[in-house]
Amino acid sequence: MRGKLTVGNWKMHGGLAENAGRLAALAKGWQATAGRMLAVCVPFPYLPQAREVLAGSAVGWGAQDVSSHTVGAYTGEVSGAMLADFGCRFAIVGHSERRQYHGERDETVGAKALAALAAGVTPIACVGETLAERDAGTTGAVVERQLGAVVDALGADLARIVVAYEPVWAIGTGRTATPEQAQQVHAALRRRLEQAGARDVPLLYGGSVKAANAARLYAMPDVDGGLVGGASLDADELLAIARS
Ligand code: PEP
Repeated sequence: MRGKLTVGNWKMHGGLAENAGRLAALAKGWQATAGRMLAVCVPFPYLPQAREVLAGSAVGWGAQDVSSHTVGAYTGEVSGAMLADFGCRFAIVGHSERRQYHGERDETVGAKALAALAAGVTPIACVGETLAERDAGTTGAVVERQLGAVVDALGADLARIVVAYEPVWAIGTGRTATPEQAQQVHAALRRRLEQAGARDVPLLYGGSVKAANAARLYAMPDVDGGLVGGASLDADELLAIARS
């Protein structure tokens, strides 16, 4: 049986002093729980801080991106091996903000997922449609295309990733997909993954998840947890979501 995985995505928020309290509160408030996992994806400069404060706790940590390259003249990029150096367990790839503001294409997202895995870091591959795409009735086609690029890149390694369905219209807007809307897309993603031989890939939902709506989302059969942006900046809120 798949458990529930909750991952906080701090995006470009925080600072040494602010993070210290937040990380300490997570470390203190989260005990290892069968079938439940909690992790936070922090901005690159704070990986050493996450490693230090979360060491010995049951809370995992990760990054919000990774280079598709392994090494070389790629100014500003951070490789999978560098993330592994800091004990990163996860790297988000293909977040809609990377796709939207940095022009990341499906193939790049696949290459990033592959690079993370090769370094021993679990990619959390994000897919999701815009409001215009949903209104046009193309949600299924869009997320299948986005997931397809990851499937093609990974082959047999597909079983080792995490996938997050994050409808773009629900990210940071306060507008959450209904549990039924999330389940419908998750079921389609599950079928696609199963066709590719990956049965037990955790499927997270992301988009304005908070303690008040997490339990209903997490109750859906194909929702294996959440990728949480804004609400993850409040440690108590993130803990409450992870316990949902
Ligand atoms: C996200 O950034 O992955 C996200 C889901 O953000 P929010 O929870 O703020 O909608």
